[in-house]
Amino acid sequence: MAEYYFNAPRLFVDAPLQAGARIELDRGQANYLLNVLRLKSQDPVLIFNGRDGEWRAEVAVEGRKAADLVCAERVREQSAAPDIIYAFAPLKHARLDYMVQKAVEMGAGVLQPVLTQRTQSSRVNLDRMCSNAIEAAEQCGILSIPEVREERPLERFLKDLEADRLVIFCDEDAPVSNPVEALAKLGNNQAGLVVIVGPEGGFTDQERALVAAHERCVCVSLGPRILRADTAAVAALAIVQSVLGDWH
Ligand code: SAH
Repeated sequence: MAEYYFNAPRLFVDAPLQAGARIELDRGQANYLLNVLRLKSQDPVLIFNGRDGEWRAEVAVEGRKAADLVCAERVREQSAAPDIIYAFAPLKHARLDYMVQKAVEMGAGVLQPVLTQRTQSSRVNLDRMCSNAIEAAEQCGILSIPEVREERPLERFLKDLEADRLVIFCDEDAPVSNPVEALAKLGNNQAGLVVIVGPEGGFTDQERALVAAHERCVCVSLGPRILRADTAAVAALAIVQSVLGDWH
């Protein structure tokens, strides 16, 4: 296995990757490599496209503001994205940016905004979510970009879920009990997971009933304090990854 270039920058590129492939960088990427990181020709950059694994590429400077990357060798085989849908009531700008980045770092494979009765913002800037997801993916070392889906009403989202997908429902009104024990009882779950976190205003009782009606649903408490939705995202995904996910 080729040595790994831990301190090389990582970039997502939407182009086929194979030995010798030459990728023309967009102005933003070229500016970042040439003027921010001050890379020179032949410097290594790790690139991935979500399909062909991760490659060591070399910078080919084409001028002060332009550069290409030339694929040298594959350093990691492509792996499947985690089968975890992170469903959340969209928050306002900075908090949403933060929550998207944390959900990506914590291993969500799909980001699904769901509209609940108390959701603050019903319009979601999907492009902004995608660029936050790409930035987080480049930073945290994953090999694919989580899928960002269009916002959907909670009821519709639940109706379209596969019946055997396990829904982990983070309910601020759940009686405080050990969420690790609640999840450990489930054994290893093959059918994929959903983690649902509500809006700053919380879920309504009607929405609780809707979620609880899903065939495979476990309601978890995240402790005795009320967490902000973006805090709940990290807390919930940490527990899920450590008990059922890829933290072991
Ligand atoms: N404002 C509401 C709480 C909403 S917090 C209230 O005061 O009751 C936003 C979301 O984070 C909740 O809908 C829930 O999904 C999650 N959350 C926050 N604290 C939690 C806790 N202690 N246990 C489980 N989920 C929690």
